[in-house]
Amino acid sequence: MVARGSIERVKGTQDLSGAELARSREIARTLDAYLDRCGYEALEVPVLEHLELYLKKAGSGVVNRLYSFTDQGGRRLALRHEFTASVIRAYVERGEALPQPVRWRYGGPVFRYERPQRGRYRQHTQQGVELIGAPAPRGDAEIVSAACRSLAAIGLEQYELLIGHVGVALQLLDGLKLTDRTKSILLSSMEDLGRAHRGLSYVQARLAELGISRNGHDDRVREVVEGLSDEQARTLIHGLLTGMNVDLAGSRSPDEIVDRLLRKLRRPDESRVVNEALEFIARLSQLAGDPATVFGAARGLLREYGLSADPLDELAQIVDAVAASGAVGGRLQVDLGLARGLAYYTGMVFEIYSGAGDDRLQLCGGGRYDGLVRALGGRRDVPALGFAFGLERLAEALAGQGAEPPGIDVLVIASEGPAFGAALQVADGLRRDGKRVEVDVRGRTLKANTADAERRGIASIVLVEPGADGPAVTREIVVARR
Ligand code: AMP
Repeated sequence: MVARGSIERVKGTQDLSGAELARSREIARTLDAYLDRCGYEALEVPVLEHLELYLKKAGSGVVNRLYSFTDQGGRRLALRHEFTASVIRAYVERGEALPQPVRWRYGGPVFRYERPQRGRYRQHTQQGVELIGAPAPRGDAEIVSAACRSLAAIGLEQYELLIGHVGVALQLLDGLKLTDRTKSILLSSMEDLGRAHRGLSYVQARLAELGISRNGHDDRVREVVEGLSDEQARTLIHGLLTGMNVDLAGSRSPDEIVDRLLRKLRRPDESRVVNEALEFIARLSQLAGDPATVFGAARGLLREYGLSADPLDELAQIVDAVAASGAVGGRLQVDLGLARGLAYYTGMVFEIYSGAGDDRLQLCGGGRYDGLVRALGGRRDVPALGFAFGLERLAEALAGQGAEPPGIDVLVIASEGPAFGAALQVADGLRRDGKRVEVDVRGRTLKANTADAERRGIASIVLVEPGADGPAVTREIVVARR
């Protein structure tokens, strides 16, 4: 309960302290140190970016997930909702002149307007890397094994690694000459059909809602006008509209209205190819599991559709290299229904999960985006990829494993007023020896401090007392474990 008149924190944000914050900072430090040892140089990018950056990268669909506003200078800005766009912007802004490959690591808060729930916040913290100028399959193998080794570094060994390749689906969608919007909506449907088990009718209804596939009624009218000349079709449509008492008076002339309708009906029928694509995607989304089985079934599907096996071959090389690196502590599964919801991925994509059932949490996501450098203003395409962890989720997964964050080693207490300065000095000496030390600032009794140390698992108390006629003396008291 919050007192009346007080201001609560913003929905979907957190105040962190104590063991929870200690755990999350420790994770951040360990990841940072590990990725530094892998050659990833630190990069800091602003929290604020031009809204345009995100629109260029992810399309207009991203707008309803952004915290965006117009500043006092009339600029349309957004709080970052991920790092990749900023990192690639920074790369392009430096004139793409950096020797390749560029390895950058980053970390900090990101903001997404989404429905808060367990493990899903409106402000969360990401830590990740981008590897720019690294082609497949080697770049991919490095990135996936670095993500797995990072988890080992923080003590997480139990997880599931899912690897897919959007190139398999893109090959078919590109061949069908679908618009980018239709392509990206179809790709996102792949996850609805696969892991989310939402079924084909759900996806068809969603596509119809988005105006991607037309309903049966449109198709029947289309068939009727198909056999007619333009003149005959115009007369028919005009007759139909006036017969249905549709008011043709308005800003457009009746002829214009009829012409527009006819043009719409004569347009190449995207719904037929959309259905073809949907059927393929529905089958692809079912291909998930053990690598050998999935690769076998996928090769059969590609042959059936007359598609090249190149993306699969590339993925198989990545999976082999990752397996041979010995980095994967958990279970590795190939999932060809993985699309990661974002339109800009071009090749390998992967996700790492901990827990099962209701406890299942996505800890990490990443993939290859070879077209992004150019899309954000670069002069040429540069092969690039990366991953990001969600820090809050890593902390939750580790807490689930019962890992304890480090606590205080020593409590320094001063027996009375004048000894307090000496106590501060003693504490400083212990800290220089690498100990975590707290000083009692309330001047409580030895008994109260001992009870406190027992409760908090502090192993020792150092009592500082004034010397008989000289410097203070210290006495160490070992605290019993409760
Ligand atoms: P993404 O940029 O969506 O690939 O996210 C990368 C990682 O950030 C995910 O794997 C999650 O661990 C984490 N993450 C994404 N969105 C949220 C959120 N709303 N709240 C907490 N963590 C998140």
